[in-house]
Amino acid sequence: TSFGFKEVPEEEKSQLVSNVFSSVAKNYDLMNDLMSGGLHRLWKDRLVSKLNPFPGMKHLDVAGGTGDVAFRILDTVNSIKRRALQDVLEDDLQEETRIYVCDINPNMLNVGKKRALERGYPDKSLLWVEGDAEALCFEDSTMDGYTIAFGIRNVTHIEKALAEAYRVLKRGGRFLCLELSHVDIPVFKELYDYYSFSVIPAIGELVAGDRGSYQYLVESVRRFPPQEKFAAMISDAGFQKVEYENLVGGVVAIHSGLKI
Ligand code: SAM
Repeated sequence: TSFGFKEVPEEEKSQLVSNVFSSVAKNYDLMNDLMSGGLHRLWKDRLVSKLNPFPGMKHLDVAGGTGDVAFRILDTVNSIKRRALQDVLEDDLQEETRIYVCDINPNMLNVGKKRALERGYPDKSLLWVEGDAEALCFEDSTMDGYTIAFGIRNVTHIEKALAEAYRVLKRGGRFLCLELSHVDIPVFKELYDYYSFSVIPAIGELVAGDRGSYQYLVESVRRFPPQEKFAAMISDAGFQKVEYENLVGGVVAIHSGLKI
């Protein structure tokens, strides 16, 4: 069976993606560490530092899965709060932070909820919402920030997801997308291709007993538009000041845009 999109009609893609993530949910966090050698943690830290979270913010993390990005945002907000409390009255920081973790797959969200409990996060700030990036169940102009990490390449119509991101953000709100991208450096590219097509499915089979899902993940990266093209799509959705930063030579890229 090939998990490539060429063989999969568009209407079946979301079902396929849903099956893949139901299947990987249990091992998802371990596999992330194994496949990226722990680097995904640094990439997510970088994403959140670019976001510049603040106490009282309303934030939406789409394709939020098991909560990695949301936890980092909350940690940053809490450390700002602790520092600020030394100088100002607590009343000034009463505006409640709300971080919505939205994902289409309830299995991923359930793992996230469990992790949040284990970490003792206040449930008031973190809200877990089952939903589709292409049709968000949030009002227009309600969010200060929108993040999507390793999620947008799984979405069937990227344009729809971008339009929805634009719709729910307030003016001045920031869009940030962390995604596996394209390497364009000779030799490194060949090594990376070998790693992606041979090593990753093998790790998937060995550790999770699921070669197919990891094959799908690799193929979905190949089909994702290159950095410049994706930046143009973000601009087409209405965002301004669109830019991107390559990390590890383009293995991942962080795209950003502002709704002005
Ligand atoms: N953001 C998390 C992280 O970085 O660890 C999870 C990333 S995981 C590779 C991709 C996630 O996207 C899965 O949890 C999957 O269920 C979710 N997803 C796929 N299609 C989606 C859609 N149309 N709307 C919302 N979430 C979706």
